[in-house]
Amino acid sequence: MNRIQTPRRFAEACLQRALQFAVAAGVAAALATPLQSDAKDTVLNLYSARHYQTDEALYSDFTKQTGIKINRIEAGDEQLLQRLKAEGANSPADVLILVDAARLWRAQIDGLFQPVESKRLNERIPAQLRSNDGTWYGFSTRARAIVYNKANVKLEDVDTYEELADPKNKGKVCTRSGSHPYMLSLIGSRVESMGEAGAEQWARGIVSNMARPPSGGDTDQIKAVAAGECGVAVTNTYYWVRLMRSSDPKDKEIVSRVGFLWPNQSGAGAHVNIAGGGVAKNAPNKANAIAFLEYLSSPSAQTYFAKGNNEFPAAKGATLNNPELTSLGSFKQEQIAVSTMGKNTIAAQRILDRVGYR
Ligand code: FE
Repeated sequence: MNRIQTPRRFAEACLQRALQFAVAAGVAAALATPLQSDAKDTVLNLYSARHYQTDEALYSDFTKQTGIKINRIEAGDEQLLQRLKAEGANSPADVLILVDAARLWRAQIDGLFQPVESKRLNERIPAQLRSNDGTWYGFSTRARAIVYNKANVKLEDVDTYEELADPKNKGKVCTRSGSHPYMLSLIGSRVESMGEAGAEQWARGIVSNMARPPSGGDTDQIKAVAAGECGVAVTNTYYWVRLMRSSDPKDKEIVSRVGFLWPNQSGAGAHVNIAGGGVAKNAPNKANAIAFLEYLSSPSAQTYFAKGNNEFPAAKGATLNNPELTSLGSFKQEQIAVSTMGKNTIAAQRILDRVGYR
């Protein structure tokens, strides 16, 4: 049956249609707005120089806690710095994680970070382990320890950084390239404790004591010490612990031949460096970036983050859960701010050039 619409019915129908349209439009608008902002608000673009399996669980835990999905770009420190510079203001990076104060400081002076206002981060991360301008924070620490060949080197001849440059160790010292950030930071810490002239004299002594020209990474130095090619070398702690934890018989053999010691224990203590990060200069998701850094500084995430690479947590109150690392014993740490070491890498580079430390 066809209904004839009276003017009143027609008006009601029009009103109903208008209401339906308004509701539909309202719903669409309501849906569109949160969806768009959701897409933006629930993402974090992480540029990381770390690449450890154990970090995966950390990232998925952050997503579970906050609903923020992490897009990761993993590459070497140098590649990440180049990429960020090339991307400029269009960079999608929210957080940048780098290894060693030398590189973090480099990123700082290249303007790749922005300052962060976070009471939580400032409370949890000691001032000595963060930048001097509120841009980056250390999230794990590692010491630069000394390893020596137990068969032909006496511990008491190599238990300070200074002794490595002493003529008594001529022909025994091995290091990686002097211009690697780990060595630049170590020399930067010498600049702080000995002055630039003292550090230069030290570096000159190291060069004249070398068993061979610098080559390879820290693990290669440990292997060369075990093989007797070198008597003594410096290494970041986690490379040594990685070998300690290895079930490979070749690694076990290396560990059995090599002695490990904490340097300068009756003096200023062992050189300590960091892995850390900050909010990228043009972060599209700044709030998420800060939330992520705060998450990384939480005691549970700290323990996990450090364990992944056999490092020490940087935050106050975080516990160390790594039996092999713990077995190395507690040690005296040199009290030099990482930002100072970073700044001193300029002087360190000048020293390298002057003494011919390649
Ligand atoms: Fe390393």
